[in-house]
Amino acid sequence: MNDNDESAAAAAAPAGPARKGRALCLCSGGLDSMLAMCVLREQGVRAEAVTFTSPFYANPAGAKKSLDALGFPMHEIDFTPDILALLENPPSGFGSCLNPCIDCHARMIARAWEYAQANGFDFVATGEVLGQRPMSQQRPGLNRVRKLCGAGDFLVRPLCAKLLDETEPERRGLVDREKLLALNGRNRKPQMEMARKFGIREYPTPAGGCKLTEPSYCRRLKDVMAHEGLGDARLLRLLDHGRLFRLPGGTLAILGRNRADNEALRTGMRGGDVQLRSVNVPGPTALAVRPAAADEAALRRLVAAYSDHKGVDTVVVRELHAAAKPVEIPVPVCGREEFQGRLL
Ligand code: SF4
Repeated sequence: MNDNDESAAAAAAPAGPARKGRALCLCSGGLDSMLAMCVLREQGVRAEAVTFTSPFYANPAGAKKSLDALGFPMHEIDFTPDILALLENPPSGFGSCLNPCIDCHARMIARAWEYAQANGFDFVATGEVLGQRPMSQQRPGLNRVRKLCGAGDFLVRPLCAKLLDETEPERRGLVDREKLLALNGRNRKPQMEMARKFGIREYPTPAGGCKLTEPSYCRRLKDVMAHEGLGDARLLRLLDHGRLFRLPGGTLAILGRNRADNEALRTGMRGGDVQLRSVNVPGPTALAVRPAAADEAALRRLVAAYSDHKGVDTVVVRELHAAAKPVEIPVPVCGREEFQGRLL
């Protein structure tokens, strides 16, 4: 069949239902992104999810479980280099903590749009709701994100589309504007009703519990940015585990608070680090990140101070250096006062 035959066949073909688009939807695993996908699917759009991984968001396993339950395929993009670059230099600034939400969101949509174009999607979509959050979901924030992300009119926000300008997929008939929504504000009731309608029962926290919005995590992160920098992604993950101390010689020491922390610290050890724990009394696992020689004695005292040393005069601290035999060193029992001002 040549080109002319094809156009003749197309002209002669009976008018069928309009082709519906294929959408790549940014998915935090939270309810709104799920609802946006359901709204698109309900009108015949092939909706698939894309999630982003980084040291600052929960593992996407939660999102995958919810998406699987609803039958949505999931794609994954490693967002680590993007968010680290934005932490160094957020063109639109930070929110209340170290959260560069406007730039982060724009960059996620940009990455999704690149991926969408390379993989046969027609447009990208988000679960944003006008006015639901400060800054990034106010109208100027939504407009700024649309401008920055590069997807332009190929970005659809199904939950509040009727309050925004018409997009290219709507103009092309890939999406029916009439079947999109006009949600506005912080009231979650409409979303709860829609969740019941679509049979969505379980969903993780929106934004996957982004650490960059948590003051205690950001206090630690600021300190690490000033000392170790952002080059060590596993360290950024460990900041959420246990108590952190900055010792006088500059060493970062992390003490587990519970079994999960201790396990994370053990598996998070890298060459140059030292792992310590008390062996004659119960106590936390400690990880010293590339410790300074000047802090060796303080590290042992720290482990001894936070061990359960009732009834003993000496705590035996075992030190494990990568690729070396552990050594055991007796340390006289000491109090925690020395370290109170060093807690991050
Ligand atoms: S809350 Fe975190 S993940 Fe969400 S836009 Fe802000 S910085 Fe990015």
